[in-house]
Parts: sequence; structure tokens; C-alpha cells
Amino acid sequence: MPDICPCISGKPYKACCEPLHLGILRASSAEQLMSSRYSAFVLGKISYLIDTLHPDKRQADDEQTLSQTIEQTQWLGLKVIKHQQSGEKATVEFIAFYHQQPIGQLHECSNFTKQEGRWYYVDGDILPAIKLARNKLCFCGSGKKIKRCQH
Ligand SMILES: [Zn+2]
Ligand SMILES: [Zn+2]
Repeated sequence: MPDICPCISGKPYKACCEPLHLGILRASSAEQLMSSRYSAFVLGKISYLIDTLHPDKRQADDEQTLSQTIEQTQWLGLKVIKHQQSGEKATVEFIAFYHQQPIGQLHECSNFTKQEGRWYYVDGDILPAIKLARNKLCFCGSGKKIKRCQH
């Protein structure tokens, strides 16, 4: 298991997404759920991804689809752009970066809903990729500028 959490929080995995992945803690916000789902993608935690998907949205072949995505995608980093909550509904806009030439972006505005005290991912709208400023700090959490970071 990694020392630093893959969700780019800068915190140790043990003090970040691991307790959620293990079911010891529940995500306290849609944003935290989204980050923990991202790190579950990085670490291949398929059952967590299914557990945090809204029960109405689960499909018989989820496990297969998820394991294919996990196998084929090398995730590089996560950037949360906006989190909005009103009552039991929330949206989180984020970009998940993945290895591709040029860098791949999953830019999505996801919908979340809270039921019986638990947040669930419902679905999301895909948004266009953004232009990356090469002199900004890299999305991977390396602390280097994008142009100096090798991906
Ligand atoms: Zn984390
Ligand atoms: Zn980087």
C-alpha cells in the first residue's frame, strides 16, 4: 500500500482514504467520497467502487467493466474544481488525469446523493478537457511544474 494517498491530499493513505476503503469510516461529504473513489480506482478496490455507487445504478457487469477500466488506465492525479451541496444532493466537478499522449483528462461533474447517512455516486456529465498551464504545479502532486514533470 502506498505511503501517500493517491487522491493527492498529501496525507498518508492510512490517515486519508484507507479507513473509508476498509469501511471503518464513511465519507462525510460528496467531495470526500469522490476522492476516495478516485483512489479506489488507482488501487483497484472494485468492491468499494460498487458499494459507493448508488444501488439504482448498479449493473450486473459492473465488476467486469471496472476491472477493465482499472487495468487499462494509469491514473496520474486528481484536481477537484468545485463542490456544491444542497441537502441530500451534491455535485463535484473534478478532473482525473491519466497517462496518454497528450495527458488524458476525465473532466466530469458528478452527481451524488445521500441516503440513510451515506453518500453515493449517482452519475456524471463529461465536460471538455481544459488547457493546462505548463508553468503551474503538476496535478500529480510531485511539487514540480507541469513542464518539468515527466508523464
Ligand atoms: Zn485519500
Ligand atoms: Zn506530475
